[in-house]
Amino acid sequence: MRNIDTIYIDGRFVTPNGTETIDLHNPSTEEKIGTVRLGDAEDAQEAVAAAKRAFPAFSRTAKAERIDMLKQLNAAVLARVPDLTEAMALEYGAPQVFTRFSVPHAASSFATMATVLEDYQFERKIGRARVVMQPSGVAAAITPWNSNIGFITSKLATAIAAGTTIVIKPSEMSAIQTQILIECLHEAGLPEGVFNIVNGLGNVVGAELSRHPDISKVTFTGSTAVGREILQSAADTFKRVTLELGGKGPNIILDDADLEVVIPAVLRMGFVNSGQACVAGTRILVPSHRLDDVLSKLKQEINAFKVGAPDDPNAMIGPMVSQKQYDRVQSYIELGLQEGASLLAGGLGRPDGLERGWFPKPTIFTGVNNQMRIAREEIFGPVLSVIAYRDDDEAVSIANDTPYGLQAYLHGTDASRMQALADRLDSGRVVINGALHEPLAPFGGFKQSGIGREYGVFGLEAFLEPKAIIS
Ligand code: NAD
Repeated sequence: MRNIDTIYIDGRFVTPNGTETIDLHNPSTEEKIGTVRLGDAEDAQEAVAAAKRAFPAFSRTAKAERIDMLKQLNAAVLARVPDLTEAMALEYGAPQVFTRFSVPHAASSFATMATVLEDYQFERKIGRARVVMQPSGVAAAITPWNSNIGFITSKLATAIAAGTTIVIKPSEMSAIQTQILIECLHEAGLPEGVFNIVNGLGNVVGAELSRHPDISKVTFTGSTAVGREILQSAADTFKRVTLELGGKGPNIILDDADLEVVIPAVLRMGFVNSGQACVAGTRILVPSHRLDDVLSKLKQEINAFKVGAPDDPNAMIGPMVSQKQYDRVQSYIELGLQEGASLLAGGLGRPDGLERGWFPKPTIFTGVNNQMRIAREEIFGPVLSVIAYRDDDEAVSIANDTPYGLQAYLHGTDASRMQALADRLDSGRVVINGALHEPLAPFGGFKQSGIGREYGVFGLEAFLEPKAIIS
């Protein structure tokens, strides 16, 4: 049993003023695994005060000093990769296929930002002006439960690179991972108050941070609905806001695609993190004349996506994080059936042999049109929709006909045709033939997938204010 009863403010583990606790569960067994004592609005205020006190000195640290700090943090987090992996498996049932990549990636956020900082010029000459990029003030970060530590490390690494201090409100559902991460960050010995982490409910601690007058910038990753609330609270004091929100990624199979190669990649992109990923490619767009071949190949390949607990090295899909998320996935499967879509694979209920744990069946709907709710709303589970298209123009038009625009996928053989199609997609990222993640490139969404960009130079500049000094 892990009972987490401290938060981290001003370089110290402190007992929160808040007295409310919530239970943590192992989603693979539904058993209680611990409790978290939550911070309250007063804790958020104390954390902001600590970050504000630390800001003047930290914002003036030399770039070389911050590069060293980032390298130290990278080493500290890398040393705890096995513990973080175990916690991620325990807390949200993430399969090994996901943690193998995502935990080292989380640690590497610090090294990546050190690289960005090495090349970055905080001053440049524009016309007669000397333009100085100045840290934008105390920042707040609010993160979701899925891949929690990756979001914390990327936001923290960027704040440190920019010379801003920060208060982080992680998801209350990921407290064990967060606690291990705090231990690593504490060991790295950053100046007091540079980073502060307050567990708490969104509508208490998160809401306090997004309206607090001493916070100049909010960086949020989470649902579109909460992103909208944060933007509204931040408006009163005109905070700089970066929002990384939901997605409904088009996963486009082109007519020249080699299905042997492409179908496993299409499913990997659709089922990434058991479908609990903003970047999941959940709408599979298929040329009508190849529909039968694609469906039979999808039906065959989905058998490779074994569902199981994280201790099963062959599991590709784990449980949903909570009963609530499991029920949500079930209700969308019911909705798809009511809307007239047909099941190619999966459906309601748990897979055979998994009676306990919030395990869904990996599900593929066919006969879907892009106006159905299952094609328009983010389900956040392993539920994919196959949508047929006539030609490239129609594929682009269906792909773009969504309130979202986070990450799109193209699968085919003609590289220049795919580059040209990528130019026509309203999407913050377009991934061609399952290419690997590029941490230096900007990440963020068009339309209701967000505002602003994270990662690399774009991410760094979102924590900076340009100041033009004209003489
Ligand atoms: P969520 O929006 O429910 O919660 C995210 C965070 O916001 C949590 O820490 C929560 O406590 C906090 N919060 C809730 N209400 C708040 C309020 N009123 N004010 C301030 N903070 C508040 O999201 P979730 O269920 O944790 O995560 C899943 C969602 O996150 C999905 O929609 C997914 O697409 C999105 N997501 C987006 C990205 C991206 O980079 N675009 C990445 C991962 C997840």
